[in-house]
Amino acid sequence: MDFLPLGLKLVGATVLVAGGGDSALRKARLLHRAGARVRLVAPGWREDLRTLVEQGGGECRARPVEAADLDGVRLAVAATDDGAANEALARLADQRGLPVNVVDRPDLSSFVFPALIDRDPLFVAISSSGVSPVLVRRLRARLEAWLPARWGRLARLLGRFRAPLAQRLPARRDREAFWEAQLNGPLEERVLSGHESEAEAGLRQAVDRAAAGPEDAPGEVYLVGAGPGDPDLLTFRALHLLNKADVVLYDRLVAPEVVALARADAEKVYVGKARDRHTLPQDNINDLLVHYARQGKKVCRLKGGDPFIFGRGGEELEKVVAAGIDFQVVPGITAASGCAAYAGIPLTHRDHAQSVRFVTGHRKDGSVDLDWAGLMAPSETLVFYMGLVGLRQICARLIEHGRDPATPIALVSRGTTDLQAVITGTLADLPDTIEGREIHAPTLIIVGSVVSLHPRYRWFH
Ligand code: SAH
Repeated sequence: MDFLPLGLKLVGATVLVAGGGDSALRKARLLHRAGARVRLVAPGWREDLRTLVEQGGGECRARPVEAADLDGVRLAVAATDDGAANEALARLADQRGLPVNVVDRPDLSSFVFPALIDRDPLFVAISSSGVSPVLVRRLRARLEAWLPARWGRLARLLGRFRAPLAQRLPARRDREAFWEAQLNGPLEERVLSGHESEAEAGLRQAVDRAAAGPEDAPGEVYLVGAGPGDPDLLTFRALHLLNKADVVLYDRLVAPEVVALARADAEKVYVGKARDRHTLPQDNINDLLVHYARQGKKVCRLKGGDPFIFGRGGEELEKVVAAGIDFQVVPGITAASGCAAYAGIPLTHRDHAQSVRFVTGHRKDGSVDLDWAGLMAPSETLVFYMGLVGLRQICARLIEHGRDPATPIALVSRGTTDLQAVITGTLADLPDTIEGREIHAPTLIIVGSVVSLHPRYRWFH
């Protein structure tokens, strides 16, 4: 190991930064964040660099570096674009035993700046010891995506209860067991979903009761939107919860690749239902959520698209709420957004549509029962979910109530997946066009002048 990662306290310390360009600015920002006073020495500089230095109580010296600039300095950074000047500064610093970093020259540096994932007070530092900045950048992007944004808050919250807990549980092993149990319970999710005061209240109670011995972690329910098909359209939060869940309940609309992201040892339960063929009555799904959560499990209910858009998310939560179980709802990309984007059909467009309406084309007693008169605005895009079976009727009713028969309409089948197919036509002709053709579920119908943009904006599907 050429460089040992360390945390350095720099609050109030003076750090020399030589150079007035981009590299100097990047380093100065980091040093500023760590509370250091920057002594900027360069013949000239970017204005924002000077502002930053002055804000941090530092000073600017408008000339090339001299030996005296190192007086009273804790660290030195050589970030000029003059290789010889950087080298000279490195030598000067070395003579004084001062740690020095030379930008892009790990061979001349006695310390390097790691890339940071900043969840203050929590940090992850990544370094390749100067060998491959590109690799560092890629690793950082992965970890950024993986590490929830609110973990810093979580760390701070835990920090606040360290001392009170130590009073109640003097043995370190007991405290560790306490924190493990807390982090296995709803605490983390309360913070990560933005419910910090609930998290704090729960933690305070737990700390007060800590001396009485360990408690079982209660279960939780996550109602998670899995997106329309392409597994890459999952949210970070959805992925995080999938990694956490002990039980995953999913149905036909959820891509198998998404279910596969659950933990290998998680129990995966299919609760799917096809149209007119209910595999599991809705009531049983609702009961199942409560059933598993009462066993202390973390239950992830995956829903296609977004759980609150034609997803019966509200109904599924009813019993969970009544049972007082911790839950959260994670939005997903709904089929309308996914299909529209992947088919190149903007749902709104200043020249075509000022509003968009999501409508269910689900039929009751064999007919589509909708407020047709309310669906007539030519400047409104209509998106029908569950509408394929009723397509002929939908087109006929729209024309009957006054929409132009030449209004463009698109049928998107298996949207956002590799098998996506888009068929376009008009209200007058699409039903005949698809008559007798095999169309694969699920399908979404988009009606409105925006559909005319499809040939222009369609991309690779
Ligand atoms: N909660 C889901 C919708 C569930 S209703 C969401 O927000 O997307 C089921 C209907 O969604 C299907 O009948 C179909 O109209 C639509 N749908 C879902 N996924 C789709 C996809 N990949 N392609 C086309 N339509 C889709």
